[in-house]
Amino acid sequence: MSRKKGQENIFEIKWKTDLPYRYSIGKLAVKFFEELKENKKIMGSKCSKCGKVHFPPRAVCAECFIEMTVEDMVELSPRGTLEGFTVINYPFTDPTTGGLRPFPYGYGLFRLKGADTSMMYFINETDYTKMKIGQRVEAVFKEEREGNIGDILYFKVLKNEVKTRGIKNEPRN
Ligand SMILES: [Zn+2]
Repeated sequence: MSRKKGQENIFEIKWKTDLPYRYSIGKLAVKFFEELKENKKIMGSKCSKCGKVHFPPRAVCAECFIEMTVEDMVELSPRGTLEGFTVINYPFTDPTTGGLRPFPYGYGLFRLKGADTSMMYFINETDYTKMKIGQRVEAVFKEEREGNIGDILYFKVLKNEVKTRGIKNEPRN
């Protein structure tokens, strides 16, 4: 709809407002964050039918749709294997803080030992020439943990530890 002449200068007030809300994260996520906060443990969920270990933990198996419970949760290693990575070079509003995350920062796709699925998270390396598929990564935890995903500060790339076999989609050069 076009505006009539004389309506170009619409009176506007701009402001930002907080919009706090609460929602149930479910029993498995509660257990995940409790173990992270209290014991620095990273938990996944293991399907009782097919045995697939999901990380992050899921309430329902993605393969066979079996419902999982807190009793199906298993501890995973804080170490994993890098499957992909990128370096971000532009400002980004961190949804956990509302502030801009300093850049550049690294972001990796990796699989924790004991898990059958991969996850993405911050990594401490920002020079992509120093990273390669198959490098080991290890979780670095906050000292004062609060029970949220920020309790894992980042995954540290262990440059001298490289897995050379069993990596899917490995570059051929
Ligand atoms: Zn399953």
